[in-house]
Amino acid sequence: MFMSNLDSETLANFKKEMLDQSFRDSVATINKEGNRNYIHPQKPKGKLYNLRSYFSYFYLVLFFTVPFIKIGGEPVFLINILERKFILFGKIFWPQDFFIFAIGLLTFLVFVILFTVAFGRIWCGWACPQTIFMEMVFRKIEFFIEGDVAQQKRLNAQPWNGEKILKKGGKTIVFFMISFLIANFFLGYIIGIDEVGKLVQEGIFVHFGTFSALVLFTLVFFFVYIWFREQACIIVCPYGRLQGVLLDKNSILVAYDYVRGEPRGKATEQGNGDCVNCHACIRVCPTGIDIRNGTQLECVNCTACIDACDEIMDHIGKPKGLIRYASENNIAKKEKTSYTWRLKLYTIVLTALLSFLAILLITRADVSARIIKTPGQTYQQLEGNKISNLYNIKLANKTRRIIHLELKLENVQGEIKLINKIDVPKESYFQTSFFVIFEKSQIHSRKTKINVGIYEEGKKIQTASATFLGPTI
Ligand code: SF4
Ligand code: SF4
Repeated sequence: MFMSNLDSETLANFKKEMLDQSFRDSVATINKEGNRNYIHPQKPKGKLYNLRSYFSYFYLVLFFTVPFIKIGGEPVFLINILERKFILFGKIFWPQDFFIFAIGLLTFLVFVILFTVAFGRIWCGWACPQTIFMEMVFRKIEFFIEGDVAQQKRLNAQPWNGEKILKKGGKTIVFFMISFLIANFFLGYIIGIDEVGKLVQEGIFVHFGTFSALVLFTLVFFFVYIWFREQACIIVCPYGRLQGVLLDKNSILVAYDYVRGEPRGKATEQGNGDCVNCHACIRVCPTGIDIRNGTQLECVNCTACIDACDEIMDHIGKPKGLIRYASENNIAKKEKTSYTWRLKLYTIVLTALLSFLAILLITRADVSARIIKTPGQTYQQLEGNKISNLYNIKLANKTRRIIHLELKLENVQGEIKLINKIDVPKESYFQTSFFVIFEKSQIHSRKTKINVGIYEEGKKIQTASATFLGPTI
C-alpha cells in the first residue's frame, strides 16, 4: 500500500537501497579465510555468447596473422620497447617522433574515456585479449576436457585416479602449449616475427635473450590462464579501477532492471517482480558476482548473465531483457539513451586530437635533419674575397634503405661544399660536416639566416635553417 503511493523514481531508488549492500565488503574470488575462491562458472549459451564467439574467432585470426603481414617490407604493427622502435601500418616511428607518439597516446586515452563513458566496459567483454583468451579459448578447452561445472567439481573432489590424471594432465599440457604459442606471437609483436623465427632456425644459444623472453612470457600466460584467471581483471587491470570515475548514470552497461525485477521471488507469488531468484545469472558469471547488486568493479560485461536470464524469462513467459545493456537512467527513470554534454565535449576533444594526429602522420618525414654551426668556429676568409662557415648536419634515417642526400642553399646565393657524401645508412643516425661559402659582397650583416634544402633524388624532403656568421660591415 505504502509503496504504491510513491512515484516510479523514488520507488526505484527505494528498491535499490533495500538490496543487501554487504557484497561490497568482499570480492567473490577471495573467501572469508582470505584464500583464493576458485570460480567455476557454468558454460554460457545464448545469442550474445554466439555473437561473442564469432567475434572472437575473427579477433584470433587477426591476432595470429598480423605479425606476418608486411607493408613495404615492414611489419604492420610492432612495439619494440627495447630498441625504442615502433611501427604502425609499416611506418617506423623513432624516438625523434616522440611528439607524435605522445599525441597518439593522448588520443587513445581520450578515446578510451569517451568509449567508457558511453558504453562502460564493452571493451572488456568483447575485445580485451585477456577475456577473449580466457573465455573463448582456455575456458572452452576446459569445458571440453573436464565437462561443465558439475563435472568439474566432481573431478576436483575425486581422488587422483586414471580419469583425473588424464583430464588434469591433458588440460595442463594443452594450456601450456597454447601459452607457448601466444608467447611466440606476443614476442612477434615486440621484436618482429622474423626475429622469433631466427630463434627456431639458429638455436637457443645464438638468441638466448629471445629465448629467455619467450620462456618468461609462456610462464606468465600459463600462470594467468591456469590459475590467476579473472583476478587479472579484478586485481591487476587498471582499466577496471577507472570505471568508478568514468561511469555516470547514462553509461550503457550490463545491468539488472531492478525496477522490473524486484521484489524477487517465486513467479507464482503475487506482488513479486520478474526476477524468480533462480541464480542462473550468478552461476554463469566468470567473476562470480551477482549483477542484481548493481554495477560492480568485477563485472567485465561479458554478457553471460544476459543470455542466462533471457533463457529463464523465455521459460516463464516473461519478456527478455531483465538483465540487458542499459544505463541507470534507462532503468530508474525510463529515459532513452541521450547524447549528454559530457559526451559532446569528449567528442570535440577527440576529433581535434585525431585531426592533429592525422596531420602529424601525413607530414612526418622519413628523414629528420638538424643543422648546427660547428662549435668553436666563427668564419674563415678565403681567397677570392669569399667567406666560409663550417656546419654539422645530424640526420636520422627512419627507413630500411640507404638514403643519398644533397644539400642546396635556398634563400641566398652561395655554395655548399660537402666534406663527405651524405649517404645515410638504413635505420641509423648519421653526422657529417659541410662548408657554406659566400661572396663577401653577399653579406649585409654579421648574422645571415640561411635555409638549406635537403634533397633525395632531386626531390626536396626537408628544409633546415642555420645562421651564417660574417665580418662586421
Ligand atoms: S555480471 Fe554478467 S556481464 Fe558481468 S561479468 Fe558477470 S556474467 Fe559477465
Ligand atoms: S537469471 Fe534472471 S531471474 Fe534468475 S536470478 Fe538472475 S536476474 Fe533473476
